[in-house]
This record gives sequence, C-alpha cells and structure tokens, in this order.
Amino acid sequence: MGKARIIDGNEIAAKVLAEVKSETEGFAAETGRPPGLAVVLVGDDPASSVYVRMKIKDCGRCGIESFSHRLPAETPTEKILDLVNRLNGDDKVDGILVQLPLPEGVDTISVLDRIDPAKDVDGFHPINVGRLVRGDHAVLMPCTPSGVMRMLDESGVNPHGARAVVIGRSDIVGKPVALLLLHRHATVTICHSKTPDLPGVVREADIVVAAVGRPLMVEKDWVKEGAAVIDVGMNSISREESPEVITTDPTRIRDFEKKGYTLVGDVSPGVVDVAGWYTPVPGGVGPMTRAMLMANTMNAAKWRAG
Ligand code: NDP
Repeated sequence: MGKARIIDGNEIAAKVLAEVKSETEGFAAETGRPPGLAVVLVGDDPASSVYVRMKIKDCGRCGIESFSHRLPAETPTEKILDLVNRLNGDDKVDGILVQLPLPEGVDTISVLDRIDPAKDVDGFHPINVGRLVRGDHAVLMPCTPSGVMRMLDESGVNPHGARAVVIGRSDIVGKPVALLLLHRHATVTICHSKTPDLPGVVREADIVVAAVGRPLMVEKDWVKEGAAVIDVGMNSISREESPEVITTDPTRIRDFEKKGYTLVGDVSPGVVDVAGWYTPVPGGVGPMTRAMLMANTMNAAKWRAG
C-alpha cells in the first residue's frame, strides 16, 4: 500500500473549468458576447483531430464560443498566415490556438510568431516567452506548465526554498515549468538526455517534474522519501503495435485498453511507495493542460476588454 497522496488532475481541472464558467457568464453579461477561441487544424493527423475535438468540447462546457478552422494538409504557409491575420483582426476571437504539429513543409515558427501576443493562448509567442522569463504576472503562460503549478498549489506543495528537478528541456514543458518554479523561489535543476547520473540528481529533489516522453523511466529508487512527483509524460505502450492516438479522454482510454494499448507516464507508478505526492497517468497533468487553455482564453478576453 503506497503512502503518496494522489493529486487528482480530473478533480482540479473540473474546479478550474467551473471557475472559468462563472467568469465567462460575468464577461458575457458585461460585454454582450462570450469569450471566443479559434482553433486551427491543418491536415488530418488523427491525434491532433482528437485534441481539437476535446478542446472544442471544453469550450462548450465553460461558455466559450469556439470557431473551428480546418485546412487541408497541403495548405501553403502563406494561406495559414492569411487566416491568422484574419483571426488577429476578428473582435469575437480572444484566443487563437494553432494545433501542433503542423504538417511537414509548413513554417511553424512563422505561423506561431504571427499570432497576436494578446491572443496567444498557448503562450508560445516570443513576446509571451520573454514576459514569462521576466516573471510578469499578466502573461499568457503555456498551458501544461501552468497546470503543473496549479496542481502543486492545490495540493499545498510550496516550491519556496524547495529543490526542484525538471527532467526535459523542451520549449513547451521543461523550460517554462523550470522558470515558473524558479519564480516561486525553488532551486531548480533542469536535466536532459546528456545529464550524467540522472537518478542521483533526481534523488536530491523535493519536487520532480518528468517531461521526457519515455515510458516509466523514473523508478521508485530515484525518488526521495516524501517528494512531490509530477508526471507530465504521455506514452502509449502496446504489446503488438503502437496506437496512432494518445489521449487523456477516459472513453478513448477504455477503448485503447480493449485493443491492448495502455497510456502510461514517464514515472513508474511504484514511486507511490516513497513519494509524498504523485500525479497519475491518465488523470493527472493531461486534464489540467486542457483546463488551463480555457483559463487562458478567459484571461485573454478580460485583458483585451481592458
Ligand atoms: P520533447 O521530446 O520535446 O522533449 C523531451 C525532453 O526529454 C528533451 O529535453 C530530452 O533531452 C529529454 N530526454 C529524452 N530522453 C531522455 C533521457 N533518457 N534522460 C533524460 N532526459 C531525456 O518532449 P515534450 O516536452 O514535448 O513532452 C514530454 C512528454 O510530455 C511527452 O511524453 C509528451 O507526450 C508529454 N506531454 C504531455 C502533455 C500533457 O498535457 N500531459 C503536454 C505536452 C507534452 P534533449 O533535449 O537532450 O534531447
């Protein structure tokens, strides 16, 4: 029987969505329109299609109007930029999300840089990245890192003075989560594929954030007694073949399991025997990422409305 407290991402995400819903009602009453999120999907990647459907469903649940734009995979970059320009100028649109990855041949950086920073609900625009580095409060932050911070806060895990180890240095998870922990006065170490003695480094951490993409990599004996272990990883493992879709949607997870697929994180669930807190996969960080997108859209709407 493990002793770690389980941080329930579904429960905290439901709380965030309820907060957003009450804010969208107030916003609509004041401004005469709901907040709006434009979702752009280029191509027909099955995983991306599932993510987009889930995001549109979340909008419906919390009173955000969604505008879905689907373009064929062979759409040239210029045409996508035209669409982004139009969405930048559309007053009903408060947030613009371009689903990644874009098809090969599309200039992803140009597309992301074209989004109005005030509508950049993914927080990937260089202006928002700069504000995040500077520690500005009113900034659209990347959704997964802000979801991780909310999970720590809701669980009473205070980063102030803690040793934090982030495994992974991607622009969308590792680096921003490390910055957020730093701004909250943790002493942060960022690890990556060239880090020597990774288990030894992780063993020093009071807070571990694993964002690697390697199934069950972090073992129980890497973790310090009582540490908070946040598992961002989403990996599907199968005995026979890899599934084409990875999701945190419970219905689809049951579906995978029937087909012999299982969704696992970067952390072995055995860490519950030593950790103080643990986020499960599925049902941990995944639902929080979705909820924080809704919170970002609400914030973008408020800030735009002044
Ligand atoms: P990336 O592939 O962009 O980055 C992975 C990072 O892990 C890299 O910095 C890489 O190091 C490091 N790494 C790889 N292998 C090792 C190793 N053996 N030891 C130490 N570090 C290693 O991934 P993302 O950041 O985009 O995503 C990470 C995971 O999080 C994935 O499983 C992804 O599916 C999941 N994810 C989940 C989300 C959610 O909502 N739950 C949202 C976003 C991502 P190097 O830089 O040296 O190559």
